[in-house]
Amino acid sequence: MSKIFNIKCPSCGVSQEVELHESVNVATEPKLKQELLENRLNRVECIDCDANFRVDMPLLYSDPAHHVLIHWIPETDTFGKEQIIEDFDRSLEQINEMVPPDIEVPSVRLVLTRVELVELIFMIEAEMNERVVEYVKYSIYTRNLEKIPPRQFRLLLNVQDSSDEELCFVMQDAEDQKLGKELRYGRAAYDSMCELYDETPEEFIEMFPGPCISARNLLLEDSVEA
Ligand SMILES: [Zn+2]
Repeated sequence: MSKIFNIKCPSCGVSQEVELHESVNVATEPKLKQELLENRLNRVECIDCDANFRVDMPLLYSDPAHHVLIHWIPETDTFGKEQIIEDFDRSLEQINEMVPPDIEVPSVRLVLTRVELVELIFMIEAEMNERVVEYVKYSIYTRNLEKIPPRQFRLLLNVQDSSDEELCFVMQDAEDQKLGKELRYGRAAYDSMCELYDETPEEFIEMFPGPCISARNLLLEDSVEA
């Protein structure tokens, strides 16, 4: 679904009307998914100064084949991470109360950045267990707190560069969004953790209840409380 918005160019200030997408349905709009993955979705070229910029606004990504709905809600100056997660939890609770018990609802996810959305799309399509992946990240962070402080770095799983032997993670600076060092993690350890998940999913679900499944957020919350 798209709408017309009046957008102001961040470099010269000239406004123009542009068509932007508020949702992407993979089944019916595969072209939009491709644009999203290639960082071309909701990009605007300024009519006056030719600046090319991306407009970040809430986007609903739906993948009916995998029964997943992902909301991307970008942080703004007025709405920070904690506020977004809190508001989202509240409205999700309300929705769940309204849905009759015999209806199968898709799983709902929340992400705050485009890279996390792209990471999650690849994970879902590769049928990886998101909670186990975040658990792996959690253990990488806690073993390397000096080298990979969670406040400064995101850890992103690169599904495409991962192999049968290793999972490939890449560090991203949360400040300037630059990608940095890669880290490799044995696939066998991930696989055995998936077996553990199948036996006792409760522990993983308790650690990462959702809708925002993120080891980094968990660590940042803990550090605020501590
Ligand atoms: Zn401009």
